[in-house]
Amino acid sequence: GSLVGVFALQGDVAEHVRVLTALGARVRPVRSAADVAGLDGLVIPGGESSVMDKLSRLLGVASAVRQAIREGLPVYGTCAGMIMLAETIANPIAGQQSFGGLDITVQRNAFGGQVESFETALEVPEVSGDPVHAVFIRAPAVLRAGPDVQVLASVPTSRLESERPAEAGPVPVAVLQESLLATSFHPEVTGDWSFHRYFLEHVIR
Ligand code: GLN
Repeated sequence: GSLVGVFALQGDVAEHVRVLTALGARVRPVRSAADVAGLDGLVIPGGESSVMDKLSRLLGVASAVRQAIREGLPVYGTCAGMIMLAETIANPIAGQQSFGGLDITVQRNAFGGQVESFETALEVPEVSGDPVHAVFIRAPAVLRAGPDVQVLASVPTSRLESERPAEAGPVPVAVLQESLLATSFHPEVTGDWSFHRYFLEHVIR
């Protein structure tokens, strides 16, 4: 199987490790720049993006991940991981940076706080023949997606906490740009492994 790193400074690392291992990948926790070398792919978990950002810069792993993304490393980011991949964060916590690479603008906590978390079944024909069970927890929304970004799934505008013109259309919650995959939601906590399988089989090649 592929050697897949799980970014392991903060967040729901164990859940991703469990799913990837069950799907036959070899998994390496990534905490330092050295851990990034030789990976076939990397997963960035859900958690708190501002904390991931701070720790990753403190520990010197941020620049290694940025470099690897530039060189085409396949990366899958869930929730906070999506925020870390976004080129632009609309509402960063003071000085918050992302790794970037994925040409999207995200809004953190766009669907409301912890109590507004929700679950839904998403049609994602590119990824699964069956609806994908998606859990949103203080999830980010994609406000803008660049021309090279493929939208894999969206939810109705009415899910958003803040007003958004209806003509802006549904809100993307799963996107793909070449080797970068990101979801606003957490497949690692649902038992629905279709996104991990898609990442291993179609994004890592
Ligand atoms: N709101 C969190 C952040 O800004 C993301 C929440 C999550 O990963 N479940 O990073």
